[in-house]
Amino acid sequence: MSYVIGFMDIALKELEKHPHASVRRLVVEVGEMTGVLPEYLHKYFPLAAKDTPLKDAVLEVVSIPVEAECAACANRYHPGKANHYRCPNCGEKNARLLHGRECGVKRLVIEEPDG
Ligand SMILES: [Zn+2]
Repeated sequence: MSYVIGFMDIALKELEKHPHASVRRLVVEVGEMTGVLPEYLHKYFPLAAKDTPLKDAVLEVVSIPVEAECAACANRYHPGKANHYRCPNCGEKNARLLHGRECGVKRLVIEEPDG
């Protein structure tokens, strides 16, 4: 639930700049390594949003897969059980994590009332 609240805080803060707008869509990105399941977000968002300006917004969850860059050969790969979390190119275990820990609001689609 705390992730949902976090997303909503960011979205509501952004919305303060557009007091008359209504939110059409809230796009969030969640890295594979965070362990947050999109189903979970879809389940709790309507409950958390029901008494807020976000109540009519459609939640869109973008999953970001894990990507690592090998410390030895700079090869980029998806670490997993299949490659024993090692570089499939050279077997090196040390790697820099490029993607997979993301967790935040990517985009807020709002509609300003036309004057
Ligand atoms: Zn390598």
